[in-house]
Amino acid sequence: MSFEALNLNELLVRALSAAGYTEPTSVQAEAIPPALAGRDLMVSSRTGSGKTASFMLPALMRVLAAREQAAAERKAAGVEAAPAPRPERGTERFGDRPSRGAPQQAKGPRVLVLAPTRELALQVAKAASDYGRFVPGLRVATVVGGVPYGAQLAALRGPLDILIATPGRLIDHLGSGKCRLDQIEMLVLDEADRMLDMGFIDDIRLIVDATPAKRQTVMYSATFSGNVGRLATDLLREPQRIEATSQTESHSDIEQRLHWADDFEHKNALLDHILTERDLDQAVVFTSTQRDADWLADRLHEMGHSVASLHGGMPQGRRNRVLQGLRSKHLRVLVATDVAARGIDVPTISHVINYGLPMKEEDYVHRIGRTGRAGRSGLAVTLAERRDSGMIHRIQRYTTQRMPVATIAGLEPKRAEPPKPFDRPVRPGGKSFGPRPAGKPFKPAGKTFSKAGPRPAR
Ligand code: ADP
Ligand code: MG
Repeated sequence: MSFEALNLNELLVRALSAAGYTEPTSVQAEAIPPALAGRDLMVSSRTGSGKTASFMLPALMRVLAAREQAAAERKAAGVEAAPAPRPERGTERFGDRPSRGAPQQAKGPRVLVLAPTRELALQVAKAASDYGRFVPGLRVATVVGGVPYGAQLAALRGPLDILIATPGRLIDHLGSGKCRLDQIEMLVLDEADRMLDMGFIDDIRLIVDATPAKRQTVMYSATFSGNVGRLATDLLREPQRIEATSQTESHSDIEQRLHWADDFEHKNALLDHILTERDLDQAVVFTSTQRDADWLADRLHEMGHSVASLHGGMPQGRRNRVLQGLRSKHLRVLVATDVAARGIDVPTISHVINYGLPMKEEDYVHRIGRTGRAGRSGLAVTLAERRDSGMIHRIQRYTTQRMPVATIAGLEPKRAEPPKPFDRPVRPGGKSFGPRPAGKPFKPAGKTFSKAGPRPAR
């Protein structure tokens, strides 16, 4: 299977080979043909499987079709063809200025992509400019929170092809009448489950109401049950369901390891050892809280690592600089929280280390998806104390995969391994008979520690 066989424009195929893509991933092969045919889609596919291109390439095909139509109309009207506008270099970070030479009528965007976080939106914008690098005068804008309104307003005023936004900030612009969505032909909801988790449901509905009913809508979500399913029923027309790979098959290219730590100090010793492993290219270390992220980054910095923290409490400018530092390999270790780390797409991340466990088991899957990108293999190491065993159990049930237990010579745990609830019988209702009530919420906070280490108050 090749990209040409998907009937993509030669300008896009060229950009894909420039990006080093030789063949479509399975979600691309499955989603692109129906998307090009204008169908509504419900797509689930694992993290890192190439979902962005699966909607961005069809989106860019719409832009190209519009360019061709405009040229044909100009010709029919006897107007001399305008010189092709200079292809814009990459997407500017926050809202581009429309390029000179672009048609002058101020129309709203044709394609709208909604994404849950700033990082993710910027990632999608980068993909748009990468895959669309040979599309004449491509105009992409991003509208995300945490940045000044001015540049975004300027971008929204001019003609636009593709708008990529987080729901909250887009609502602000819609409310002030500064953004029109009445030209939207294609609406993409990326990581819809996550957007609903973050409480964007009302914003999404308001945004959708501002788009034409005859639009094409494609929705990406790990699940289509519950609220996401209801939203899909309301927004999509005769959607095609695409499940490129099941949750279970996922991450075959990511090796998982579980280290049991006796206590906080033992956990730190394990982390220190892993961070000095020779095959560690770059690592993302996850913590449960922003404070832990800052504290741990400071600690690792003092130990001589090139490290920075990344979390939602940091100003956007600093977050961008940190991500840039990671991409340029000035940073070897990133200490991050879950929300901030979504959308980090750096192929040289060889290790994901769970220093603090996630609040939700699906976040584990998103975390480990930061490694094993673009066909490389990755290692996902989880450091757990006994009190974490309930969450470990839930993660294993969620992924239906066991995390193999590993030890490091000289740093073996002294305490016995906690019992494995994973092995116990499971009731049809899904709750297990594990030693810890399965319904009990996981609370990493509020525990006291026997060893009074330099741990910050949570
Ligand atoms: P997802 O949204 O499913 O998590 P992304 O769209 O972010 O995945 O893509 C994950 C990584 O795979 C990115 O680094 C992207 O550049 C790369 N990628 C996407 N499609 C291909 C392809 N066809 N061939 C090689 N690499 C690809
Ligand atoms: Mg994605």
